[in-house]
Amino acid sequence: MLRIDIMTLFPDTVGDMMSESILGRAQERDLIRIEAHQIRDYTTNRQNQVDDYPYGGGRGAVMQADPLFHCWAHLCDEAGAPVHTVYLSPAGKTFTQADAIRLSKLENLILVCGHYEGIDERFIDECVDEELSIGDFVLTGGEIPAMAISDAVCRMVPGVLSDPACFEDESHYAGTLEYPQFSRPETWHGLSVPKILLSGNHENVRKWRRKQSLLRTRTRRPDLYDALDLGSKEDRKLLRELQEEQADGQSD
Ligand code: SAM
Repeated sequence: MLRIDIMTLFPDTVGDMMSESILGRAQERDLIRIEAHQIRDYTTNRQNQVDDYPYGGGRGAVMQADPLFHCWAHLCDEAGAPVHTVYLSPAGKTFTQADAIRLSKLENLILVCGHYEGIDERFIDECVDEELSIGDFVLTGGEIPAMAISDAVCRMVPGVLSDPACFEDESHYAGTLEYPQFSRPETWHGLSVPKILLSGNHENVRKWRRKQSLLRTRTRRPDLYDALDLGSKEDRKLLRELQEEQADGQSD
């Protein structure tokens, strides 16, 4: 079972969100466990203060190393097994689906949410295994990144989703973006569902979806497209067809 412990100043918000829907059901089935912990409970001052001014001056406050350390040490003791610790940080490596798959294989993961100007670097040096960012922008706290990462990681734990096919076709799992999806009605606002999806021919539908997935990836994310291994005979054929269709002006 994967256990995720989230160190935060807002455990109620995080706990509520993480016990809803698919993740809530996965916790009831003991496939995963997600718990949020109040860092303030590990302070030793009467005001339960967790932050102080930054050395060197400047605006804002920095979360102090000591309450973070006591909270972290308590969680490590409780786990009684190796723990992987991630600090959510805009200065970290950008989190990807490959990281979600990698982290889903762990037994104990601690996510540390910063606030204010961030956290004392010495806690990072002493206790953190890696820093992960959810993108090149700055949020007020690490809670949303921690919840986003927990969600992406837990979906990859076997049994959390009913069928691996649920995620194998999805964007980023195998380096491509997913094909377009449609549901009823057949015509909406004058727009029709592509005919092939109504044909009942599963093989043709599969090829159409692969082609759309390649087209979408090439158009929207050339960086992903360039990194794809398109060596299979079928992909080469689909790409040739795409080229011909584009030359005829019917790219979708
Ligand atoms: N002063 C920091 C900097 O410039 O790198 C930003 C601190 S931010 C206001 C407060 C906290 O939000 C960070 O400690 C981190 O935990 C979280 N955070 C903000 N943006 C993030 C992002 N893109 N990815 C992950 N965590 C983020």
